[in-house]
Amino acid sequence: MREKLQRIQAEARKRIQESDGLDKLNEVRVAFLGKKGELTAVLKGMKDVAAEERPKVGQWVNETRAELEELLEETKKKLEAAALEQKLKEEVIDVTLPAKKMEVGHRHPNTIALEEVERIFIGMGYEVVEGPEVEYDLYNFEKLNIPEGHPAKDEQDTFYINKNIVLRTQTSPVQARVMEEGKLPIRMIAPGRVFRSDEVDATHSPSFHQIEGLVIDKHITFADLKGTLEEFAKELFGSETKTKFRPHHFPFTEPSAEVDVSCFKCGGKGCRFCKGSGWIEILGCGMVHPHVLEMCGIDPEEYTGFAFGVGLERIALLKYEIDDMRLLYENDTRFLRQF
Ligand SMILES: [Zn+2]
Repeated sequence: MREKLQRIQAEARKRIQESDGLDKLNEVRVAFLGKKGELTAVLKGMKDVAAEERPKVGQWVNETRAELEELLEETKKKLEAAALEQKLKEEVIDVTLPAKKMEVGHRHPNTIALEEVERIFIGMGYEVVEGPEVEYDLYNFEKLNIPEGHPAKDEQDTFYINKNIVLRTQTSPVQARVMEEGKLPIRMIAPGRVFRSDEVDATHSPSFHQIEGLVIDKHITFADLKGTLEEFAKELFGSETKTKFRPHHFPFTEPSAEVDVSCFKCGGKGCRFCKGSGWIEILGCGMVHPHVLEMCGIDPEEYTGFAFGVGLERIALLKYEIDDMRLLYENDTRFLRQF
């Protein structure tokens, strides 16, 4: 029995030393120490050993087993270290290679302009409100005094989802929704994406952004509207900026006006930027039509208000002197990096 164990041990030792990988080493472990391994077989054969011999043989088997386990563990560690060494050699980093550049993005000119506008109005106590881009015809048109068959509905080439649902053509429906909630007074701006089925050119895009403002309170007059927009223009384009109100028509407001600002390039003398006129058109505005107030559940005898709408792209184009709106949507980083 002693010789048998010594033979097993010698054989196992040899095979362990020959193992050149962890999987080979594991095969050896299974072959000798596994359930059907050679050493295990000896243990199983103990019943055939004479009773007085058993303790001695048992001790030999255990000693052999312990020795082999120790050797297996030692070899395993060596092989693991070698494998790690090999891996590190293979994955060695060539520090002379040029590094991958981490491109840090930055804000789009539209976003910069929007944040500027928001900052100005938040400073005047306005709240920023958002609303759905897919909107009911009711809010996009009807509640804004644009009933079925109204010419304005034809003028605006609208994307219809179905007869009652559209991609909003303006951010004004957000105003109707806020008015309907009935929490007065209201002092809000609603920035957001709007959609019209326009062909893409230097000044048109089927998707663009508007920022609309609305104030409803007791005793609001056209003077408040003028003062507010004058302040806005000065904050945005510089303290020397003058504003000019020209009568206009919008269904949502009465009276209505378009607002020009004095050219911030030439100060009003006339230049290529303002096409020689000294003025640049920036927005539309007016006193909220009493009919609109009524439809949104506000008593026009008690409350009055004003509204205005400005194109975000128009502001970005003016502020950064960009002459083609398409540049804002092409996402060419060489262009965007300039702002
Ligand atoms: Zn000018």
